[in-house]
Amino acid sequence: MTAAQTLKTFNLRHTSGREEVLDLFLNAGHALAHSDVESGLGPDHDRVTIYRTLRTFLDVGLIHKVLDDEGGTKYALCRETCTEGHHHHDHVHFKCETCGQTTCLDGVHIPAIALPDGYARKEMNLLIQGVCQGCNQ
Ligand SMILES: [Zn+2]
Ligand SMILES: [Zn+2]
Ligand SMILES: [Zn+2]
Repeated sequence: MTAAQTLKTFNLRHTSGREEVLDLFLNAGHALAHSDVESGLGPDHDRVTIYRTLRTFLDVGLIHKVLDDEGGTKYALCRETCTEGHHHHDHVHFKCETCGQTTCLDGVHIPAIALPDGYARKEMNLLIQGVCQGCNQ
């Protein structure tokens, strides 16, 4: 699906800014930080618009947050499973210390974790750090 079609599927008004941001994600194959989006788009896009676009994509279930090391946040495309306001992921994220890229390991799930009584789970994040497949050769 192209970026334009995806925007339509998610009932998002088409703007060239949204399409370009989405294209970056579709072509990247790994998670992107706000700064990656900024530098990927070039100087004619302002920070606030990019921030709002990411916010919108998050809200509708198009991208999800990836907690990077050192408290940074990146964003990655959701697979088909997310809907507005509801992200359903339990996959692991992998940060490569060689190339610095963070990837969704969609086939690798966070094991079931039992919480003590009275704790309600909302979100789980598991980041594994090491060397990725591409660098490990
Ligand atoms: Zn999601
Ligand atoms: Zn790597
Ligand atoms: Zn992910």
